[in-house]
Amino acid sequence: MVKFLTKLTKILAISLVIIIGILVFNTWRYSPDTISVSTPNLPAVDGEQIAQELSGAIRFKTLARDLPAAQGEFRGFVDYLAQTFPNAHGAMQRELINDYTPLYLWQGRDRTAAPVLLTGHYDVVSARSFQAWDQPAFDGVIEGGFVWGRGTLDDKGAIIAMMHTVDALAAKGFTPARDIYFSFGHDEEIGGNQGAGAVVNYFKDQGIQLEWSLDEGSMVLREIIPGLSKDMASINIAEKGYMTVDIVASGAGGHSSLPPRETAVGALAGSLTQLQDNPVPGGLRDVSADFFDGLGPNFSLLQRMLFANQWLFRPLLESELSKSAATDAMLRTSMAPTMLTASDTENVLAQQASATVNFRIHPRDSVGDILDHVRGQIDSETTQVRLRETSARAASPVSSTTSTGYQLLSTTFRQTFGDVIVVPGLTIAATDTRHYAEVADDSYRINPFIFYGEDIPRIHGRNERISIDNLILGVQFYTQLIQNIRP
Ligand SMILES: [Zn+2]
Repeated sequence: MVKFLTKLTKILAISLVIIIGILVFNTWRYSPDTISVSTPNLPAVDGEQIAQELSGAIRFKTLARDLPAAQGEFRGFVDYLAQTFPNAHGAMQRELINDYTPLYLWQGRDRTAAPVLLTGHYDVVSARSFQAWDQPAFDGVIEGGFVWGRGTLDDKGAIIAMMHTVDALAAKGFTPARDIYFSFGHDEEIGGNQGAGAVVNYFKDQGIQLEWSLDEGSMVLREIIPGLSKDMASINIAEKGYMTVDIVASGAGGHSSLPPRETAVGALAGSLTQLQDNPVPGGLRDVSADFFDGLGPNFSLLQRMLFANQWLFRPLLESELSKSAATDAMLRTSMAPTMLTASDTENVLAQQASATVNFRIHPRDSVGDILDHVRGQIDSETTQVRLRETSARAASPVSSTTSTGYQLLSTTFRQTFGDVIVVPGLTIAATDTRHYAEVADDSYRINPFIFYGEDIPRIHGRNERISIDNLILGVQFYTQLIQNIRP
């Protein structure tokens, strides 16, 4: 017996040493890629000038929901681009798609190569908020190193940086290597059908297929991800889909003094709890895995060990990442109950109680998968699940991370932002690229601006602003990108 125990202890000890050895070896191997890029001479950018250019753009109240009444604001913005950037306007050909979306073509030296599309949108959401802004939302105030106002981050800042870049390059007589289109949508915030959607039809009519496109959808994140000391440029290669279902529970109704064992409201509450407790399965696979694999080697030793040894720690990692809304949204299709209705009288039982639940669909799932998941969780004859068909939209295709476009973007981020981690990511909201992706081999989503955690609530929220330093970086990025594009 003693002999057996000694043997067992020995085996255990050896196994432990082997496991620790594997953990250490994997962690050691799991180090950040050292990619060196040439350091170009970035152009000097006049910060005061570009701040003024954006300031002027902010003063147009281009609220998509206000069309057609606000058409003067939209026409004004389109004319403003032409007047403010005469060299760019002169060097390119412009089509106005559905009156308000300017589509510029900058002809390249090689007209046979597939074109590239750089894009943004200039419509904005309302600036109403419970608390007044520190600076007015539509005055274009320049204060404290920032341009303030609705649309500075989302997304006029990017458009002004692009136009400023083309203007400066065109003034020097530069011609791009291949055709570059610039499309500035006017209705992204309400679905983009009239702007980006119509641009896509234009491309289809002309038989134009783009090599790649670049749109908003992420930024260069600084001090946002806990445990990460470097900046991270997440070049988003896909965006989530969208669907909404109504869950409707039926009951007998009647007076609330004689309630049955199960009421419509009780059944509905049970269904919602069941759904909440059983999220759509997800995890560190496909796009989600690529994102965290890009980040993993840059974390501190302990976190690195976990990511490097997913054969052992994947369940632990997935459960940790699920605890935060931001990282959970990267792992799976998210589910959010948003609206409730039932009886409108306090002593009357509801004959019907319903909840509206919104889903943002991960690229690995389809609308049908989510519907099956929801129906599978709700095992009741008196409760129905109804899909709102018209708003349902699958996730985008997933673009390549080995394409020329991705490599160009990743090199350009390293050239302009220095020691930055570049990873492929997932846009969890929607952009105009849901349309553009139809005519592009690959579609990428990121604006070349540094973004802090405190900036998150400014988008669609109060006190939206962009730093002048960011506008300068944006111009340097687009200048370098356009020069990096090869025939
Ligand atoms: Zn936007």
